[in-house]
Amino acid sequence: MILYGKPVADALLDNAASKIDNLAGKTPKLVIITNPNDPASQVYAKNKIKACVLCGINVETIAMPENSTTQQYLNLLAKLNQDKKVTGIIVQLPIHKTADEKIVSSAINKEKDVDGFLKDSYFPPCTPAGIIHMLDFYKGKGFLAGKNAVVIGRSEIVGRPMAKLLLDRDATVTICHSKTENLKDFTKHADVIISAVGKPNFLTSDMVKPNACVIDVGINRVNGKLVGDCDFENLKDLCDITPVPGGVGPMTVATLVHRLPILYQKQLQKEAEHEK
Ligand code: NAD
Repeated sequence: MILYGKPVADALLDNAASKIDNLAGKTPKLVIITNPNDPASQVYAKNKIKACVLCGINVETIAMPENSTTQQYLNLLAKLNQDKKVTGIIVQLPIHKTADEKIVSSAINKEKDVDGFLKDSYFPPCTPAGIIHMLDFYKGKGFLAGKNAVVIGRSEIVGRPMAKLLLDRDATVTICHSKTENLKDFTKHADVIISAVGKPNFLTSDMVKPNACVIDVGINRVNGKLVGDCDFENLKDLCDITPVPGGVGPMTVATLVHRLPILYQKQLQKEAEHEK
């Protein structure tokens, strides 16, 4: 079975749109800080803007000028953190090399951290959260319990939080990474494989057992075409697999958009408590 992201993402976006309708004319606002020099970051920002607009969310993009310093980012974030009209803030990565990505990313107020990148954020990062939602949709909520899950990749925004969410669902989880020896010994026994490496044709059919469930997080450009980490053509008849594009990507965006009315309501509640 091909696990398409679009139907699941559309349902999430519909849900977000109806939550926004119920806010009686009040509109959450997302601010995206972009790096106009990075084409990939521009594409990611564009997808988020499109989905927000569809759901009735206001979006403002702020393009940081070349050579922006950490302090310039911090000054902007301090203003946005204070601004009551701003519900969520995204610093679209990668930022300019003249600024420190870690310091900048961690300066977002946790109440506005829609990406879920902060340690004490309300939410886990969008990509792993979207993958769990997708697995629930196609496989049912109890599916992961007792399954052998292998996560390839150990980044802070995908691999590590993915492993935690799988563990929270009672899967037996192995994290593999660039120093893992004999990767195939792990993947061959996995019921669920999450590949978040960023190398085309990395996961091939000899590495996967029949009927496994493969989630391809990778985004790679080959001859101008977008592809994932997996040899999709040879895997699609062997196991369940997400396509690239059209798999995890739309889930990441929809998960993010879905969080804005939730954050908005939390902020309203907090304000009301303050005024009491
Ligand atoms: P990253 O570069 O931070 O991490 C890549 C990971 O791959 C590392 O942890 C590394 O240890 C591992 N790796 C590299 N070579 C390996 C090897 N030979 N064997 C085993 N592991 C190996 O990247 P990231 O931010 O986690 O993103 C991973 C991929 O997912 C990228 O292609 C990125 O563009 C994509 N991505 C997609 C979405 C989406 O919404 N679809 C979201 C985030 C990231």
